[in-house]
Amino acid sequence: MNITVVGTGYVGLVSGTCFAEMGNNVTCVDIDEKKIQDLYNGIIPIYEQGLKELIDKNVCQKRLSFTTKLSNVIDNADIVFSAVGTPMGEDGSADLQYVLNVAHEFGKLIKKYTILVTKSTVPVGTAELVKSAIYSELKKRGEYIPFDVVSNPEFLKEGSAVKDFMNPDRIVVGTDSEESTKYMTELYKDYQTKLLLTDIASAEMIKYASNAMLATRISFINEIANLCDKTGANVDFVSKGMGLDERIGSKFLKAGCGYGGSCFPKDVKALIKTGESYGIEMSVINAVENANKKQKQVVYNKLIEEFGDLKDKKIGILGLAFKPNTDDVRESPAIDLIKNLNNDGAIVKAYDSKAKDNFAKFYKELNVDYCEDMATVFTNSDAVVIITDWQEFINARWDIFRNMMAGNTVIDGRNCLNIKTMKQYGFNYKSIGRK
Ligand code: NAD
Repeated sequence: MNITVVGTGYVGLVSGTCFAEMGNNVTCVDIDEKKIQDLYNGIIPIYEQGLKELIDKNVCQKRLSFTTKLSNVIDNADIVFSAVGTPMGEDGSADLQYVLNVAHEFGKLIKKYTILVTKSTVPVGTAELVKSAIYSELKKRGEYIPFDVVSNPEFLKEGSAVKDFMNPDRIVVGTDSEESTKYMTELYKDYQTKLLLTDIASAEMIKYASNAMLATRISFINEIANLCDKTGANVDFVSKGMGLDERIGSKFLKAGCGYGGSCFPKDVKALIKTGESYGIEMSVINAVENANKKQKQVVYNKLIEEFGDLKDKKIGILGLAFKPNTDDVRESPAIDLIKNLNNDGAIVKAYDSKAKDNFAKFYKELNVDYCEDMATVFTNSDAVVIITDWQEFINARWDIFRNMMAGNTVIDGRNCLNIKTMKQYGFNYKSIGRK
């Protein structure tokens, strides 16, 4: 098929590349000229395992190309995917301006039956707004050109995006016409997974409900971990014991310093806002959001417990990304922690080989000394904290680093190190819900 993907971010670039890998002709469109120029030059704007190799291969085999103009490619497209951002608006609801811009452009440009598929995460009801935007453009043109709008939410995870896209747990497609159902079924026919066909509103809702459920599990186990801290229970055993119950399962039961990223915080908030707009109080989801805000303070609170006053204390931070294997720093717990440390007059050093450039770019106002290696983070630090459980930190020679520190406190915000070993090395080691 001939596919156009609008928006070349984490979702658009991965989706477009993987559709090309499945044998389709794909053009990725982005209004960011630098991004497209970089892609022309073989520079990949995001870090994602296996992506560069797949892009190079599909560009070389002429199934994948890039452009800044939808008008250059729409005439050839059977399907246009919209994978633009839906950031949190000022009031917390999803900001649909980019999605609607794409819909208007689509309405201005189509010349034959074309399908517009929303891959972005959008609140239930958005497809109707998208259709209206397209109709309004066709009306201005005084033409009627048939089109369909489809919802095909994306469930890939940053850090394993290519693998997730190629081997998804499920594919959800919401349609309201036979023609678009036929195209979407054909597009996904070679995927060895369940294709769930639904109405459009349900497809839109499935994405939010899924993310809210995952966020709920995280906030739930974090709350249990905080209680473990006080009672002497060990949250690792607790989540293992819970997870062995088939009805519960073991995934997303790892305690830590709170969830971040470009999806959970904004999607949880947007779902609350959708509830409000229909007069439904989302009390569970509200509690999840509040619990996460508090959890992002947990590492800072532990530092305060240790030191009382953090003025002039040298605090080393390992990890700035919101999770390992990505350079995405949006809503990372590191942001809240560093703000607190800056306010208290602490001296902050941080290391994250993949995410530090992004962090420095997006959070210029934060006062951080960015380190080129782990050793510099440890040197003369009073405490070192782990915010992202990169494998590099788990595998590190902590016994050697111990001797470089001024103090011996380590706060493990991801419960990724062994308690016994860390104590043997002489660390004052604290984690979340484990003694
Ligand atoms: P992103 O911010 O990384 O990328 C969005 C891209 O769209 C940017 O490159 C921007 O320049 C481009 N863009 C904006 N308006 C455009 C226009 N009119 N024409 C062409 N390009 C345009 O976003 P992302 O993280 O890829 O997320 C995209 C959507 O997918 C969001 O709704 C998000 O919630 C959802 N989603 C994200 C993930 C994830 O892990 N990042 C997973 C599943 C779903």
